[in-house]
Amino acid sequence: MRLLVCGDLHLKPAADDYDLDAVSPPEDVDAALVIGDLTHRAGDDDADLARRFVERLAPDVPVVYVPGNHDPDPMPAEVVAPVSGATAEHLSARTLGDLTVVGWGCERRSLTPPLPQTEFDALDPRTFPREDRRYVADRIADDLLDACHRVVSGSASVREAAASLGIADDEAAAFHRGVETMEATYERLSERLGGRSDALLATHVPPFGTSFDRHHAVGTRETDREHLHTGSIALALAIRDHDVFAAFSGHSHAFGYDAGEGGDGRPHLLNLGFRGVGVATVDPSRGEFAFTRR
Ligand SMILES: [Zn+2]
Repeated sequence: MRLLVCGDLHLKPAADDYDLDAVSPPEDVDAALVIGDLTHRAGDDDADLARRFVERLAPDVPVVYVPGNHDPDPMPAEVVAPVSGATAEHLSARTLGDLTVVGWGCERRSLTPPLPQTEFDALDPRTFPREDRRYVADRIADDLLDACHRVVSGSASVREAAASLGIADDEAAAFHRGVETMEATYERLSERLGGRSDALLATHVPPFGTSFDRHHAVGTRETDREHLHTGSIALALAIRDHDVFAAFSGHSHAFGYDAGEGGDGRPHLLNLGFRGVGVATVDPSRGEFAFTRR
């Protein structure tokens, strides 16, 4: 299966740096995935633009449109409704050839992570010297993932997880709420992934703790956040616990590919970056995963 993958195009009605009428899927692809933020503002003219984009692809290949936070409910469903062969997938699955694509998008524009690290002293790399922060951010991310995994797998209570991370007493209630929200998302993802083999995930938000989910604050006044991981903990744990062959994501506007520890490099995690367009070859039965950026 060869997939055209487009992410974070952020199409704007007034922009003239692209020509939608010239868009067409490469001849050798079998399906197209749009992994969110197809538009920028989700207005009526943005929805028209999104539909025109999907219509350029859909006569030739099936199109899966996963909503981003910039194209919140109900826009994607309305965009694809009149387009034959196109569907919007959020916490739902679609079979494409011998692959099953599980979509996880966004419902709202604002995305506050359930466990923002900067709200917990023990998880905040900014309390460390600047030169140590990158390393510390990675170490904390690993510890946070492991602690959350113990909770979702039932081997530890939230209280034990908080203690292992050194969460302060006056932050315990916020930590508890955050873990509960994360766990609810994990359960919803697990319902869609459980029992499947070789699932393909198409998500807008990237998994937490990857090489491409760092805060895109470099060069802004939020530059002290640049090492923070901002992806989804629930998604990272769902990928860990289920048979996921590959996961495509966007949102962070960072390009990156992480191979997993499975024998054939699974799970393959790919984030194509801002206006990221690529063609991926995905064949779990042969353990084959490859991509080129366009
Ligand atoms: Zn986004």
